[in-house]
Amino acid sequence: MIKVVVTGAAGRMGREVVRAVSRTPGMTVAGAVDLGHNGEDAGSHAGIGPLGVVVRPDLVNVLEETRAEVMVDFTTASAAVQNIRDAIECRVRPVVGTTGIPPEELQELGRLSREKGVGGVIAPNFAIGAVLMMHFAGIAARYLPAAEVIELHHNQKIDAPSGTALKTAEIIAANRGDATSEDGTQVVKLDGARGGTLSDIRIHSIRLPGLVAHQEVIFGGLGQTLSIRHDSISRESFMPGVIMGIKKVMELREIVFGLDKLIF
Ligand code: NAD
Repeated sequence: MIKVVVTGAAGRMGREVVRAVSRTPGMTVAGAVDLGHNGEDAGSHAGIGPLGVVVRPDLVNVLEETRAEVMVDFTTASAAVQNIRDAIECRVRPVVGTTGIPPEELQELGRLSREKGVGGVIAPNFAIGAVLMMHFAGIAARYLPAAEVIELHHNQKIDAPSGTALKTAEIIAANRGDATSEDGTQVVKLDGARGGTLSDIRIHSIRLPGLVAHQEVIFGGLGQTLSIRHDSISRESFMPGVIMGIKKVMELREIVFGLDKLIF
């Protein structure tokens, strides 16, 4: 039985993780950590009835008392960095979906995990369909190098653009080599109208109530376009990837970045 501590357990994703882990054979919710809802039962808060696991704020104590094997973190970028450090120091494997962690912090966490020999998974998108979308975008970029990314999320998301959009742009850039796309825009009449740029690839972020997590990558060629689109229509879409991460992290000895590393 894999013992899992969920950090951010009271949040939107954390509650989904509590539900998913508690219904998956071979794993159990051993602890729940959040800054809010302290003293509440994590299962009740997640809408599945009491699990006998109370939400607490003190991560290190929870990791030690529960003898957890895996910590699943969906919190905020600044909180996650310290949580991951604490987990590694306690020899608990982090499986992290929190986005917005700066690249230099990720590098440092990778180094720490190698030094301690503790495995982990940090993935900006745990939806398997989104990983496939990024993979297909990489293939398309070899033949259609002109591309722009449009990502659409619910209006409570605190970072923009999404981690998935940044990763997608990196993949497109790596696959299209030296080819660049021509942009005839000479006058930008409204700041930001052409989006943000990563490696010369435009990323546009849309935030609206009603959305969950969506992305469209549009490639343009001579007389044709190709659109690759993925829609997460509920947060459940991330759970098969998280469960896969919890199972596979048991065999890792350092942090791997991206769910693709576990699939392909
Ligand atoms: P949310 O605001 O609903 O939940 C975050 C929770 O973390 C809150 O309950 C908050 O109290 C808690 N928290 C903050 N600091 C903490 C700390 N130090 N220790 C413990 N808990 C702490 O947010 P959400 O919608 O659940 O998203 C959480 C993160 O997951 C975001 O970074 C989001 O971008 C990311 N996300 C990733 C994926 C993916 O597939 N990788 C999918 C969806 C969301």
